[in-house]
Amino acid sequence: MVELATIERRLTHRVMVGDVAIGGGAPVVVQSMTNTDTANVNSTTDQIIELARAGSEIVRVTVNNEASARAVPLIRERLDLLGWKTPLVGDFHYNGHRLLAEVSELGPALAKLRINPGNVGFGDKRDRQFEAMIEAALLCGRPVRIGVNWGSLDQEMASRLMDLNAQSPSPRPAEFVLREALVRSALENAAQAECIGLPADRIVISAKVSRVQDMIAVYRALAQRSNYALHLGLTEAGMGIKGVAATTAALGFLLQDGIGDTIRASLTPVPNESRTNEVLLCQQILQSLGIRAFLPQVTACPGCGRTTSTFFQELADKIQTFLRDKMPNWKEQYPGVEKLNVAVMGCIVNGPGESRHADIGISLPGTGENPTAPVFIDGEKAMTLRGSRIAEEFEAIIEDYIAR
Ligand code: SF4
Repeated sequence: MVELATIERRLTHRVMVGDVAIGGGAPVVVQSMTNTDTANVNSTTDQIIELARAGSEIVRVTVNNEASARAVPLIRERLDLLGWKTPLVGDFHYNGHRLLAEVSELGPALAKLRINPGNVGFGDKRDRQFEAMIEAALLCGRPVRIGVNWGSLDQEMASRLMDLNAQSPSPRPAEFVLREALVRSALENAAQAECIGLPADRIVISAKVSRVQDMIAVYRALAQRSNYALHLGLTEAGMGIKGVAATTAALGFLLQDGIGDTIRASLTPVPNESRTNEVLLCQQILQSLGIRAFLPQVTACPGCGRTTSTFFQELADKIQTFLRDKMPNWKEQYPGVEKLNVAVMGCIVNGPGESRHADIGISLPGTGENPTAPVFIDGEKAMTLRGSRIAEEFEAIIEDYIAR
């Protein structure tokens, strides 16, 4: 017998980001980041709401100058007024220590601070500035993500390891050393934060790279060497299918291994593309792996030469849209319904079989002007729909099924 692949989640410290738990067995959290100018309170608030409405449970915003630092408390206030509790994370580089000191309302308005150890400063200043940021987090009782990044790796750390490697009798390739530098940078900075007084259950770690195999290797090492909660993300994943495929491959592999407590998909949107796609992708990755269920799952075949019209694609699209629009919070709308699988299939080759596996399935053996479509409910053929109102009638069947 073929056993079901099970996922044993790695046990990490539980970190509270506002009301959202990351790690310690909590559901894997979906998060995202705005790309508006944070200083623009209106557009940033709007985008945070758009992301939250799509399912982002935490939203990160850039805090890069005094104007954005002063805008964050106003954004928080506006979100609270509108009833959005979504925790905000401040993304700091270079000047976070100064902004947190100068704008006293900034720290309390944030639910977490993201510090990039490669962009905190150099030499003597570096430790002082890092300490200042950790102290700011301690002062307002906030957790910190130590977020190292391939593109802004701590150069002192990288040089040190490169020198050691060069002196070794059997030097390793440079890429290996840089991956090690990334891991050590994350862990040493987390340890430094703990020495300053930040407890391990207020530390999340990430080590983002842009290549899938590097990411898998780096996060495996982090998981082996620590119990910190891990934020997964493939940085600069890219545009379109490339970004989706690379993100899915990297995150999927690690999540299947039980690694990862919160995820973000760093997709590059094409102009005018909704930022929410990164949220939907994270949800779909988790749902496809059976880790979480966000929406009723629609299974549809790709179609082939047997589908002589576009009717079945249109039906699949209609059903997907119907489920998304009608049941945005289906678990709250229908307590007790843990998952729902709907199959929309193009013909009798795989249609009846796939439909029987789903909770509700429809198979279209006939297309064209007079389509007929057998409907399967809980594995049994329940009825056959005919004519031009198949989509509407199938939607009504789904609604009725869930209501029951
Ligand atoms: Fe083609 Fe039928 Fe398979 Fe769909 S189910 S891909 S229409 S053979």
